[in-house]
Amino acid sequence: MIRSYGSISSFCRTTNPIAEQRTHRLTFCSLFTNCKSHSLPANKACVAVPVASAFTNMEPPDVTFTVAYVVFVFCFVFTPNEFRSAGVTVQNIFSGWLGSEDVNFVEYHIKRTSVTLLVHSVLPLGYYAGMCVAAPYKNLTYFPLASEGWQLYFVISVTLPLLSGLLVLHWSQDKWANHPISRKLRAHALPQSSWRAVASSINTEFRRIDKFATGAASARVIVTDSWVMKVTTYVLHVAQQQDAHLTVVESKAHEISPESNTPVQFLTISVNSVNPSVKTFDIRLNSTEYGELREKLHAPIRNAANVVIHQTLSDLFLETFKSHVEANQTYTLPSGQELESCIGCMQVDANIKLLRLCQEESEGGPDSGAGCQRCYCRPMWCLTCMGKWFASRQDQQHPETWLSSRVPCPTCKARFCILDVCVVR
Ligand SMILES: [Zn+2]
Ligand SMILES: [Zn+2]
Ligand SMILES: [Zn+2]
Repeated sequence: MIRSYGSISSFCRTTNPIAEQRTHRLTFCSLFTNCKSHSLPANKACVAVPVASAFTNMEPPDVTFTVAYVVFVFCFVFTPNEFRSAGVTVQNIFSGWLGSEDVNFVEYHIKRTSVTLLVHSVLPLGYYAGMCVAAPYKNLTYFPLASEGWQLYFVISVTLPLLSGLLVLHWSQDKWANHPISRKLRAHALPQSSWRAVASSINTEFRRIDKFATGAASARVIVTDSWVMKVTTYVLHVAQQQDAHLTVVESKAHEISPESNTPVQFLTISVNSVNPSVKTFDIRLNSTEYGELREKLHAPIRNAANVVIHQTLSDLFLETFKSHVEANQTYTLPSGQELESCIGCMQVDANIKLLRLCQEESEGGPDSGAGCQRCYCRPMWCLTCMGKWFASRQDQQHPETWLSSRVPCPTCKARFCILDVCVVR
């Protein structure tokens, strides 16, 4: 199991405005390390110089504004959960014009991607406008007096919204027939019909409550009776189920998900279509949703990388259990004793002996109270069955307590903890 901690928590850390500000200051600082204003040798810690004095050449308001604007743009474009719940998203601001996704799925995303492009293209100009106020000494309001760099920036930031405006205007011609989504749908249309027939098929299927939908708003996966789709900020990927081959290509295990406090496994599945005009795309989902996805698909999902898919929490726990037990001391079988097959599965030899190895003494002696007890059973279970037993005795609502809890021996009921589980050699 790969021990990488949740990408979401590191994401949160970078979106934390204070942390962001700090990293930005440091980057600015390291940029300024080579500046002439400091007699410091290059690459010598400018970080050690108090931040304020590192900016003696710059007026604080424009630095503050720059940092704030960068954070804002980052949050606005990538919309972390905090921003989304505050309603600061393109979808929310333009919800009146976009209409309902449930009623008109395709039209909704045609409009949403167009307006997203427009709004994002205005962001650089917003920075210029803000700088006019934050740094009046730069003379940004009077164009000829501004420095050449700023003049160039202004021209670019005005051109961007103009170009994207023209592009969106072009897309919207003939009731959005030129939009990339419409053109994508045209590839699925029957010879005599248009992309609108495809769109209405998708709309109808999206309205059904039995569709499979998962993922964050920036990379949502939707599987309906005949379509596999992925919705991202700018793009709608569409493949027809009957043309599509799904292949599990990668698996990433996170020991603990910051959201649910449980171990999670993420699967990357590539969607290939035999239709040459449909580009291959990847979808990402939690392994616990894999069964549901498979149910919704008519064709099997290939597992090219032989990824072990853990569909339940107990499956995920089993991996963790095994790796912990393998780190424990091993047990050598006394001479003359033979290993019998595991009484749980009858498939393999029993290879687990419970030995009270943990140091925790409970009050009133080792065999009383809540501590671990001595088990005199001979090896009767295999590692997998013992792991399943261990998981089955846990509080399903609190997976974070699983590793530290004690469960009774399946045979003699003596309590043991994970430290007491030994592999027989
Ligand atoms: Zn077994
Ligand atoms: Zn026992
Ligand atoms: Zn113990």
